[in-house]
Amino acid sequence: MDTILVVNAGSSSVKFQVFSIEGEGRLRRQIKGQVDGIGSRPRLRASGTSGDPMADRAYPIEAVADVPAAMGLAGNWLREELRIHPIAVGHRVVHGGPDYERPVLIDHGVVARLERFISLAPLHQPHNLAPIRSVLANFPSLPQVACFDTAFHRTHAAVADHYAIPHQLHAEGVRRYGFHGLSYEYIAKTLSQIAPDLAKQRVIVAHLGSGASMCAIKNGRSVESTMGFTALDGLPMGTRPGQIDPGVVLYLMTEKGMSASDMQNFLYRDCGLKGLSGVSNDMRELEASKDPKAKLAIDHFVYRIGLNTGMLAAALQGLDAFVFTAGIGENSATIRARVVAQLGWLGMTLDQTENARHARLISRSDGSIPVYVVPTDEELMIAQHTLSLLMNRPSSHPQQARAS
Ligand code: AMP
Repeated sequence: MDTILVVNAGSSSVKFQVFSIEGEGRLRRQIKGQVDGIGSRPRLRASGTSGDPMADRAYPIEAVADVPAAMGLAGNWLREELRIHPIAVGHRVVHGGPDYERPVLIDHGVVARLERFISLAPLHQPHNLAPIRSVLANFPSLPQVACFDTAFHRTHAAVADHYAIPHQLHAEGVRRYGFHGLSYEYIAKTLSQIAPDLAKQRVIVAHLGSGASMCAIKNGRSVESTMGFTALDGLPMGTRPGQIDPGVVLYLMTEKGMSASDMQNFLYRDCGLKGLSGVSNDMRELEASKDPKAKLAIDHFVYRIGLNTGMLAAALQGLDAFVFTAGIGENSATIRARVVAQLGWLGMTLDQTENARHARLISRSDGSIPVYVVPTDEELMIAQHTLSLLMNRPSSHPQQARAS
């Protein structure tokens, strides 16, 4: 069985999935796993397609001290216990900088270029690159593909790509990149299958998870995103504030003596739903809470989705469809109902029965804007890109690339 390994590495976990390649290049998910608790309480967990557990093991801290060690652990488990020898590895890489507008086959030159973007995404990029380097070192002939969260947004016009700051900074890479691109690309592709006419028109996709953003898509291409230079901008998120006046940052630094690293921790970990509610960053807990601050946090989240929809509709010069996706968008009928009510002025109406059962189409036929719920699948997108780059490599047959 030929397989593709998909890797999504963060600071404390390496998530992985294995896809088998079926006839005509179709991909089937076989295994979903992760090594988490890196450097604290390492644990390997994995399950099969129907959720059947395949592994759940704890390791001593010194056995899995960093991301490369976690990658090694997952790779050994796959090779030695399951006899799975992937023919390629696809990686989620958060930042492709200004250069990469599509996935790329990795070599040492690509790694060197991607290292230049570490300063643009210091919390993610180093961890994304660590497993790439260790696979390059241990399996130099195994093809690896980098798939970027920024790539889908490289179609933005210059007016959307710039901040109103001196031009030199844009040339250095201070741009409005946008993120969650693999999710949006998957949604755009799926929409072209389930509603091909709408997919050619003006669509807003709301990716509402722990990280949250929205994207304006016209004819399958991203024209605007609520996120910018980093994944801090736009909507309030689990622990990030979303759009915030830079004056607040100056105030905290000058009046409260916060350093750059204090600010980084504050903005990435202490704000958003967690900071505002003082209860939790988890939408399920906020929905269940009676605390008025939890209610305020949800009200603020819904309000900002409404405001940002107006902004994106302006970028699109109208709106033909709206799509919810990711953890909150796919699972919270309450948030969806509140967002649709907030956007009633645009002509959105909700079919409450269909919304309650998480149907694909949740709007009523008397509304002017169809509203969809489409579960996202960034890992499948990465596997598809990896296979496609593998197949289109000049003079190479996938079998030759197998890791031994
Ligand atoms: P993600 O980052 O896409 O995995 O999404 C995580 C977010 O989805 C968290 O805020 C969860 O609380 C939220 N979530 C998951 N399931 C539900 C649910 N049934 N109702 C409300 N929120 C949910």
